[in-house]
Amino acid sequence: MSTEWFFKCPDKLCKEYPPPIAGMFDMLKEKAENSDFPKCNCSRLYDIFINFEFGLYGKLLHCFYPSTIPNWRGRYNQKWEYYPFLVIVDPDDKELWSKNYYLWFPYWHVVGTKKLKKYGQWAQCLDTDVFVDLLRQAREKGYKL
Ligand SMILES: [Zn+2]
Repeated sequence: MSTEWFFKCPDKLCKEYPPPIAGMFDMLKEKAENSDFPKCNCSRLYDIFINFEFGLYGKLLHCFYPSTIPNWRGRYNQKWEYYPFLVIVDPDDKELWSKNYYLWFPYWHVVGTKKLKKYGQWAQCLDTDVFVDLLRQAREKGYKL
């Protein structure tokens, strides 16, 4: 995965270092679950920036995953969990990318007792009810989608 992300304290004079986070999945999941994440040692909330390989650079405003995680038994009877995320990104360069928010849909399968995280490299195929559930969550935060 070549999409990069990083935390940035809104206080430009802050000298604190961001905490280590295991990976994009854990960061997005924590952000979706905890409105007080990620917090800088100076007590401000970090801004999260995402840098896509295709050129878009912007601030992560909110992210969501389904209220009920779809899951099933796959080959070898392993449990598969499906985490399709909705990530709302505010483009840094509005001249280039428009004034609209961008909706990013990264997804992972979390497999077996070891919770192996498999990142989805290609376009996803979403159940309509799951997509509507994500839209409802974003609308509750005030997005006119
Ligand atoms: Zn800080």
